[in-house]
Amino acid sequence: MRFESFRMIPVFRIGPFRSKGSSHFGTHSHLGAQASTRRTYRPPGPRFVRLALAWVAGASLALVGPLAAEPLHRGLEASKFAVPFDLSTLSGDQLAQVVHERPTALGSLSLGYPHNGQLLNPVQPQSSELFEIVAPDFCYGTEETVAFLERAVRAVHAAHPATLPLHLGHISKPGGGYLSPHLSHQSGRDVDLGYYYKEKRTWYRRATAETLDVERTWTLVKALITETDVEFLFIDRWVQTLLKSHAQKLKEDPEWLKQVFAGSVERPALIRHAPGHATHIHVRFFNPKAQENARIAYPHLISEHIIEPVVVFTQYTARKGDTLGRLAKRYGTTVRAIQQANGLRGTTIVAKRIYKIPKAGGPAPVAEPVATPARVLPFSSKS
Ligand SMILES: [Zn+2]
Repeated sequence: MRFESFRMIPVFRIGPFRSKGSSHFGTHSHLGAQASTRRTYRPPGPRFVRLALAWVAGASLALVGPLAAEPLHRGLEASKFAVPFDLSTLSGDQLAQVVHERPTALGSLSLGYPHNGQLLNPVQPQSSELFEIVAPDFCYGTEETVAFLERAVRAVHAAHPATLPLHLGHISKPGGGYLSPHLSHQSGRDVDLGYYYKEKRTWYRRATAETLDVERTWTLVKALITETDVEFLFIDRWVQTLLKSHAQKLKEDPEWLKQVFAGSVERPALIRHAPGHATHIHVRFFNPKAQENARIAYPHLISEHIIEPVVVFTQYTARKGDTLGRLAKRYGTTVRAIQQANGLRGTTIVAKRIYKIPKAGGPAPVAEPVATPARVLPFSSKS
């Protein structure tokens, strides 16, 4: 039987760092542990606490110094991420059997939507030469997401010697679902990434012309766009200006830059402004396998009680000016889920009518096969 060849996919960690520098990274994990037990995701308000954190970060920075001069990939195992199994090749019965007997063999599944989703069989990246994990408990992603991150950060290390680890903020909870304070980050495809800084590497530090390491950050952004399946990146408008003028100085393909920063009718800009993104980048990946496999496995996961179905929990009387999009956002669900719950085809809602709003608990079903658009590539790298 073909299932015999399925891989077990436990929650594993990437690149456990076990060189002589590991004690230095102990300082990092200490900081990470602190961050993970703090109630707030962002550095706390009082100035002295922030200064203390900056001091700790600065101290660990000094310790990391000599390490960074070592060969970049030393001590890191080769990426363990195999391409997850393509579930569309299984018959319904075969799939039912796998879900029943060995759900871990399904690989990472990104269920539902970023705003109403769940994550199964996650992967947890670990602090290494590449990353410093800010809050390990909320840093679980799919195999594809973590492999994409690793790939892009490796590109930075390859282009710029002595690159320090990049802060990795929230991805998702181990099982996905609602993660405060975000609306998204529910299905293992959204990642909060630090910027690279010229000095004083600190999580949630504001990126400006003075602080931003524009060379490294641009290499990171370019690698994310050209070497991984990125849906979009949220980057503050002012930081975008810095990146764009640097890219122009490097004589990047102007047409490609236009697509990346301004977009077109066919595809909106990949880099978008959203308030609050001068301190970190939010990247959302497409996961061709984890999304499509999740869609295919969904009914079986429901019948095996591995996930909950989306349940109706509230009746809402529509008011003038309400839109499906606004309701979906307010209740942490999706337009499609509301449409399905109410048998709506369009997006019109009528004032004073009562609508059923599905609960955010179970991941919303995805009706259509997931289509990952082609990557947006500069002229020089098109064949
Ligand atoms: Zn985010």
